[in-house]
Amino acid sequence: MFPPAKYGFSKTDVCFNSFHYVILSCRVCMPYITVLRRYLHPCISHGYSNNDYRNNFDEERYVMALRKPFVAGNWKMNNLVGESLALVEALKPLVAGVAAVDMAVCPAYTSLHAVGKALAGTNIQLGAQNAYVKESGAYTGEISPKMLLDVGCAWTIIGHSERRHILGEADAFLNEKLRFSLACGLKVMFCIGELLEERKDGKMESVLERQVVKGLEGMTAADLDNVVIAYEPVWAIGTGETATPDQAEEVHVFVRNLIDKSFGADAASKMRIQYGGSVKPENASDLISRENVDGFLVGGAALKADSFAAIINACA
Ligand code: PEP
Repeated sequence: MFPPAKYGFSKTDVCFNSFHYVILSCRVCMPYITVLRRYLHPCISHGYSNNDYRNNFDEERYVMALRKPFVAGNWKMNNLVGESLALVEALKPLVAGVAAVDMAVCPAYTSLHAVGKALAGTNIQLGAQNAYVKESGAYTGEISPKMLLDVGCAWTIIGHSERRHILGEADAFLNEKLRFSLACGLKVMFCIGELLEERKDGKMESVLERQVVKGLEGMTAADLDNVVIAYEPVWAIGTGETATPDQAEEVHVFVRNLIDKSFGADAASKMRIQYGGSVKPENASDLISRENVDGFLVGGAALKADSFAAIINACA
């Protein structure tokens, strides 16, 4: 039954030796596995060549490289179908070679279908600007995540300041929208941001904390894989006034710490935090150079192919 006995080995000897070989194999293989993980994982997930990566390797870059920049254009209530098509056709060749940045455009509902078709097979993703909390039914004027997926959307924006402040959408409703969109299979750019008065009155952190905590309530760290946070100070949206790189970095670190507190360090280090608010080709390089700025949500400058492409290229 137990052959080694005839060679003079007891069961204990065999068990002990097997255990010893397992430990020995692990000790021999572990350094190779560690090196492979360290070098290959970021290269595979972010499209760097192995040599690019090795030449530039350091721990900080490793952390940064885990977050591929994401630049999205929010076209708001602009562009008829023909204008939308002209805009994406002009954009496509300008960013065709860009692999190091994720990018998306978010046209008005009426243009989604046509733009979705025009983007098929390109590196530009399609996003919507909003989504309701039901799949279908008597909800006049609303649009469901299922309809957005049907026309090719991968993303939707939720919680843009214009919806919070002009349309009166509150934290609990935005949380419901966010969770429903994710459950249906959309990825979400979740916008947060303080008003100028709130910043001046020293309430910025409490406002942002409330928006993050209530907006992400009831979600798990795994849900956050499909969420990007867009920090958009309301005083900088469409005003021509931009947060300085230091102001943006300070808030992005604050938001990342909030994610860490609620969802853990892994979720926090993976979370992409876009900055939005009068981003232009002239300020994009300085902003993206900051460690915690992981891309942009762009309004006005996304309505021109050359300026949007220049912002994308600044992140590549
Ligand atoms: C926005 O609408 O999300 C935005 C940031 O607009 P702008 O870039 O025009 O400030």
